[in-house]
Amino acid sequence: MLSHICILLQLRESNATFTNMKIHNFSSGPAILPAEVMRQAAEACIDFNGIGLSILEISHRSKEFLAVLSEAEALIREILGISDEYGVLFLSGGGSSQFYMTAMNLLGSNEKAAFVDTGVWSSNAIKEAKAFGQVEVIASSKDKNYTYIPKGFEVPKDAKYLHITSNNTIRGTQYHRYPETTIPIVSDASSDIFSRPLDISKFGLIYASAQKNVGPAGVTLVIVKKELLGKANRHIPTMLDYRVQIEKESSFNTPPVFPIYVSMLNLRWVKAQGGLSAMAKKNAQKAALMYAAIDRNPLFMNPVEKEDRSIMNAVFRLKDESLEAPFLKLCAQAGCSGVKGHRSVGGFRASMYNAMDLESVQVLASVMDEFAQQYG
Ligand SMILES: *Cc1c(COP(=O)(O)O)cnc(C)c1O
Repeated sequence: MLSHICILLQLRESNATFTNMKIHNFSSGPAILPAEVMRQAAEACIDFNGIGLSILEISHRSKEFLAVLSEAEALIREILGISDEYGVLFLSGGGSSQFYMTAMNLLGSNEKAAFVDTGVWSSNAIKEAKAFGQVEVIASSKDKNYTYIPKGFEVPKDAKYLHITSNNTIRGTQYHRYPETTIPIVSDASSDIFSRPLDISKFGLIYASAQKNVGPAGVTLVIVKKELLGKANRHIPTMLDYRVQIEKESSFNTPPVFPIYVSMLNLRWVKAQGGLSAMAKKNAQKAALMYAAIDRNPLFMNPVEKEDRSIMNAVFRLKDESLEAPFLKLCAQAGCSGVKGHRSVGGFRASMYNAMDLESVQVLASVMDEFAQQYG
């Protein structure tokens, strides 16, 4: 069984599948992970660290798993430079549960939170926060179909926090400078955490569902400044109370053992690659290549304001939508998978998370060039 899996994984790592073609995974999430991480994860499903048991069948209170949990937390603290002022949590419920958990924990019913609306995910966060306190949308890019990041707005000083979506996975926009404010920033960094260095001290809370740039689906990372907690003056259900989760080290109940393990393996990989400055360099190269391919191509366009383009998710569309099917066919023939845009906006999207190599972006860029030759 194990040798079987190893052969399959070797095939994958040698860039071969049964059709002898490497698949370039542009999926927006759940998304690409390094091949060596998946090999280690697969092996741990059979025999974890040589203990004769699978990672899937050991107690979350076993010393083996406690070592995983503490290494995962230590890696996050080291890679992002997080001080003891912050708790680091591994929770369930996805990024979407953080839309209400943040407000439930940080916002009193008579208090105000400020939001910037940059698309679906921030709109969802705004909607959920309204159940817990006052919500003021202080800036929005809805007027131009969410194709830019609002700037130059005043942040009200009496708000408890400012909520932003760091990278808009669906629209392909990203903050390249965070808003200037003295109030804590709460950031949904689901699709760009660990993609570049971050000054944690600007943030009161950062949350990220793992399945974009951290690990598999099933765990959500929360980094929260402890001094902000316990002030919202309401009953918070135990499972949803960040203070309990900090005190119980994410193990008030059974945490998502396997997603945490795979995330830990991926964070080891990030560190071994040179950490966030190395990630940022590689991600910038990939993004530059991708946007150059869109911009030089007369058939394609990217609607986003240039300075706000995301280094993680490049969205693009064909000026002539009737050409979408033949383009997707050419992508599939070249092994480019997952380039279809989000169902709410259509078009295409190339997600280029940490584990993606430059070579994969080169392949997609050549497909676009070839397509322009055929149909231009
Ligand atoms: C994917 C995503 C979410 C939703 O995450 P779930 O884990 O599916 O709830 C939230 N915010 C952003 C920015 C995302 O990209």
